[in-house]
Amino acid sequence: ATLHRAVDALKQGRKSVALVPTMGALHEGHLSLVRMAKRVADHVVVSIFVNPTQFGPNEDYAAYPRDEAKDAALLVEEGVALLWGPDVGVMYPDGHSTHIEVAELGADYCGAARPGHFDGVATVVAKLFNQVRPDIAIFGEKDWQQLAIIRRMARDLDFALDILGAPIARDKDGLALSSRNAYLSAAERKAATALPNALKAAAKAIAGGGDVAGALAKAEADIVKGGFDSVDYVALADADSLERLTEFRKPARLLAAARIGKTRLIDNLAVG
Ligand code: AMP
Repeated sequence: ATLHRAVDALKQGRKSVALVPTMGALHEGHLSLVRMAKRVADHVVVSIFVNPTQFGPNEDYAAYPRDEAKDAALLVEEGVALLWGPDVGVMYPDGHSTHIEVAELGADYCGAARPGHFDGVATVVAKLFNQVRPDIAIFGEKDWQQLAIIRRMARDLDFALDILGAPIARDKDGLALSSRNAYLSAAERKAATALPNALKAAAKAIAGGGDVAGALAKAEADIVKGGFDSVDYVALADADSLERLTEFRKPARLLAAARIGKTRLIDNLAVG
């Protein structure tokens, strides 16, 4: 009720509200979403919720970086109107038993490597939409599959809001910014550029008419050669349906996930 009153106050005078959902440990990538939100709406609401249901049993839920005081200070500086940071017990009261599965888009890629992950994401994002009731919600293209799933969920379930995707914010050396980069040792951080570099080379080869399977295999080998321990997937996908492509046609996206030490990193790139 407190949140609804606060959002109603922001909406007075037909003002629009944009929501930026996050799990905190904010970096420039998150802040670029906040800045986009400011450009497209009158008021910005940011949520911070480290969502336990999107972490697998052997994943980093307990260790996930959390610094709410620092995050709040950054958001004040950005002129954010409201920070919504519910407790786990508020989000999932005893007996919570309703879930959303976006079946078609959630099975492959990160969905295959992280069973249940996207059901957790879709469910919590639907709840955030109902809690905050924004006019617009902004998600990063960094999580391309997640963005596609949320667009499909919003369409399928008739959420009356616009979903916008924001471009990937990268460090100077090309590594996509991520809260999980904080896990990397200095040597791993240096090696991690192998992931965006391999995608760049593969995108160039495929857009130039090169063999798709060959380009994907080379990218996978380059990622391991660069210092990653294993590759979950490197794939060429239809950018909207996420269908795997064996031949290049637009709109296409290269999607990848790989593990270095204890850290799993993802990245993606438009082709052509
Ligand atoms: P997270 O806190 O990791 O759940 O991310 C919250 C939102 O920020 C998601 O919509 C992400 O896609 C987005 N995001 C995270 N990192 C980046 C980045 N480097 N560039 C653009 N968006 C990002």
